[in-house]
Order: sequence, then C-alpha cells, then structure tokens
Amino acid sequence: MKLCILVGHGKSDSGGYDPGAVNGDYHEFNIAKEIAKAAAERLNSTYGADCGLLNDDGKYNLKERIAKFQDHTYDFIAEIHLNAGSATASGTEVYYFPSDSTGQAYAAGISGAVSAALGIPNRGAKASDYFGIIRQTVPTAVLVETCFISSGDLDKVKDAAGQVKAGNAIADGIAKTAGLQSNANGWVKASSAWYWYENGTPVKNKWILTGGWWYRLGLDGKMLTGYQKIGTETFWLNDKPASENTAGIPLGACVITNDRGNILDL
Ligand SMILES: [Zn+2]
Repeated sequence: MKLCILVGHGKSDSGGYDPGAVNGDYHEFNIAKEIAKAAAERLNSTYGADCGLLNDDGKYNLKERIAKFQDHTYDFIAEIHLNAGSATASGTEVYYFPSDSTGQAYAAGISGAVSAALGIPNRGAKASDYFGIIRQTVPTAVLVETCFISSGDLDKVKDAAGQVKAGNAIADGIAKTAGLQSNANGWVKASSAWYWYENGTPVKNKWILTGGWWYRLGLDGKMLTGYQKIGTETFWLNDKPASENTAGIPLGACVITNDRGNILDL
C-alpha cells in the first residue's frame, strides 16, 4: 500500500508564493508543512508504511499536485490544510469525495484522532466535490482541515510540539483506518486478544519469558490461556487476570508447566 501526504498551498497558480490563510505572522502553508512532515515521518517510522511527502518545499501549485496523481501508483493521499473562519470557530474536519466510502472512513478516522489529540471539537468527515485535490485525482483522497488558523485553535499548532502532535494524530488516524500495525514492543491488545510484539511484529507459536513468567503465543500470535497441549505436554496457562486471583498471577502466565505438576525447563 502506497500513501502520500501533501501540503496545501505554497505556490500559486501564477507561480508566486501562496501562504494560504494568514493570521498575523502565521501562514497556513508553513504550519501545514510541519504537520505533513510529522505525519509522513510517523507513518514510515512507526507504522512501516510506504508514505511519500509532496510539496513540503512549496514547489507544486494545485494544478501540478493534481497532475501527480492521475494513476493508481498511490492508494491513498491526504492534503494538509488549516481552516479559516471566524475568530471563535474551532475544531477539525476532513473532506472526502461524495460516495467514496473508503475516503469517508479515512476522513472519519483522521478527524476523530486529531480532535482527541488536540482537544478540539470533532466537526467530522464531510462529503464535498469542491476541492480539486479530491475531485480530480485517481487515488482515494481526503483534505484535512486540521484546525482553525483564524481562532484560538492556532495555539494548538503554532509551535513545533503542537505541529508534531497534530501530524502524529493524522498518521494514527490513517494507520488505524488502513489497518497498519505500529512497530510496537510488548503486549498489545486487539479485539480482546493479547499479542506480544517485537519491533512491530507479533510473535507466533513460541514461548516468551517476561516479568518472570512464561507465556505461550498461539499459531496466530494470540496469548493462550487455560489447558493447552503443546507438543506432548499439557500446560496450565492462567485464565484470569491478576486482579481476579488471590495470588496475583497475570493472565496467560504458565503456572503448572505440565499436567503432572512438574516444572519443565523451557
Ligand atoms: Zn488551505
């Protein structure tokens, strides 16, 4: 799956500088560029995605950006903007092309993640055929209005820390929608099952020793519990969380290592 994060504005149709919306010294292009960089970086480093970044140098105007996405090289593109409105307007919203249900899912995933990360209202996924970058391009495309530059929302993204936070949230929203797993280490809970990750990959069909207990991961990577026959031996793997047994033994921990109660050297 190939992704691309684009930066809105930077170069006008006539070739001059297009800052996008402006509030004092703050230009939409400059802020969107940092947010976009953080998003692409996180998708590549944390999620192991194949994600490009376009127009962070302000080299392509809208027409030129649209021209880059006229085939199926990319599966998904997101262009980063800041919204402009009244001095009290607040929140994040993400546009997708009408009837593109994949675009709608990405838009909802991104707006939910940005709203939660920045603590601003979630104005949600919005269908629109107004924006050329989603109307005239081939891959599923969304346009992210991260937050308002015209209001107090600006405080959320005016420094580097806020820009990275917004970019990371956009990446998390995209990754969650695309089903990309993070390069996590340790226990990860997914659909009520526990998995043990090492550098983003769930360990499968193996014993692991952590926190002084042995655990067994099944063929699909799920932590096994209860009686389990592994090879020729039967094992008891605690089937209750630590909070529900008096000894405080963690869920999944191997308590009696075989059905005769002997301690096996694993
Ligand atoms: Zn814009």
